[in-house]
Amino acid sequence: MSETNATQEKASSTKFSRFFTPFVQWFDSDYCPEGASRVRNEPDKVDWTRVMPFVALHLGCLGAIWVGVSPVALISAVALYFIRMFAVTGVHHRYFSHKTYSTSRVGQFLMALFAGTTVQRGSLWWAYHHRHHHQHSDGPEDAHSPHVHGFWWSHIGWITSRRNFPTDYSKIKDLAKFKELVWLNRFDLVVPAVFAASIYLSGVLMERYAPGLGTNGLQMLVWAFFISTTALFHGTACINSMAHLMGRRRYKTDDDSRNSFILALITLGEGWHNNHHRYQSSTRNGFYWWEIDITYYLLKMLSWTGFIWGLKAVPQSILDEGARADHRESVEAARKSVAAQQEHGPSPLKHVIPAAAAIAVATVNAANTQLPKKPEDAAMHKDMTELAHELQAKQTPPAPGSEAQN
Ligand SMILES: [Zn+2]
Ligand SMILES: [Zn+2]
Repeated sequence: MSETNATQEKASSTKFSRFFTPFVQWFDSDYCPEGASRVRNEPDKVDWTRVMPFVALHLGCLGAIWVGVSPVALISAVALYFIRMFAVTGVHHRYFSHKTYSTSRVGQFLMALFAGTTVQRGSLWWAYHHRHHHQHSDGPEDAHSPHVHGFWWSHIGWITSRRNFPTDYSKIKDLAKFKELVWLNRFDLVVPAVFAASIYLSGVLMERYAPGLGTNGLQMLVWAFFISTTALFHGTACINSMAHLMGRRRYKTDDDSRNSFILALITLGEGWHNNHHRYQSSTRNGFYWWEIDITYYLLKMLSWTGFIWGLKAVPQSILDEGARADHRESVEAARKSVAAQQEHGPSPLKHVIPAAAAIAVATVNAANTQLPKKPEDAAMHKDMTELAHELQAKQTPPAPGSEAQN
C-alpha cells in the first residue's frame, strides 16, 4: 500500500469516526476517541448531532397542540418542575458541587438517581462544570458568563458546545472515586429514559383506571416530561445567565453575581447567587431569615430524618460583612433621596414619598441587622440620625407667602 493511500484511508476513517462519535455519545457520554482533554481545549463550536436529544426535548413541548391538556397533566408538570428543581439545587448543586452536607454512600447514590430525572446530564458532569464556574467566574475561561460570551451563550449556547460535553474526572476526584456515580454519569440517558417511560405508563394507567381524569400516556408525557423538563432547564439556566446580570450585589465579589428575589422563587433559593459566590460552603444560599430559600428548608427537614447530616452554616463573619454592606447601602439610598429632594424642592409628593420610604427602609434595616460593634458603625448611626432630621426639616410647612414661588 502506498503512503498516499494509507494517509487517505486514515483520513476517511477519522472522518467516519468523527461522524458517528456524537451518535454513540448519546448513549455513552464518556466515549471520546479523540481524547477528552483534546476536545476540551478546542474552541467553542455547537455539536448539532450530539445536541439532538436536547433539541428533541424542546420540540416535544409542541406535542401539546395535539394531545391537549387536563388538570392532572398540568398539576403534574408544575409539581415535577418544583420537585426536580429541588434535585437540581439540593443535590447537583449543594451536595455534589459544593458538599455542603453529608450523607451515606447509598444516600448519595439515591440522590444521584433522583438528580438524574432532571435531564441535566450526570451529577459529576454538573459538578465539574459548576466548580469550574466558581473558579473562573465571569473570567475568559468561564464557560457560561453573560459578560464574556453574551446572554444566549451563557443561558443555552454553552451546553451545546462540543468542548463542554466531556467530564473532567481529574477535577472531581472526590466524586470520581465512586464507580456507581461514574456509571450514572457515563450513561446519563438511562435515568431520564426510565423516568419518561414511567410518566407515560402513569398516563396509560390513569386512562384505563380513572378515565374521569381525562388524560392519557401521550398527554402526560408531553406535559409532565417534555414541558416540565424544558421549563426546569430554563429555570436552572437563569442562574447562569440572569443571576450574573439582574439583582443586587450585597457582597463585592470578584465576579458580577447578584441576589434576586424573583430568581430565588423560581429556583427554590438559588437566586441568592451573590451570597453564594461570597461563601459557597454553606447549605443555605439565603443568608438571612427574609431571604426565602426553600431548598435549605427542605434539606433541613431531611436532616431530621437522619438521611443527611452535617449541614454547614454561614460563618458569623460573613453575616456581619453582609449586615455592614446592607447598612451602608441603606444610608447611601437615604442620602441620595435627600440630595434629590434638595435639588427638586420639598413640596411635590413625588419627591417626598421616595425619600420617606428610603429613610423607613434604612431604619428597618438598621433595626433588623445586628451590626457588629465596629468604630465605623457609630459614624453610620450618626449619618442616619442626621439624614432623618434633615428630611424632617425639609417636610415642615413652608412659611406663608413662599407657596406662590412653587
Ligand atoms: Zn455564578
Ligand atoms: Zn455554586
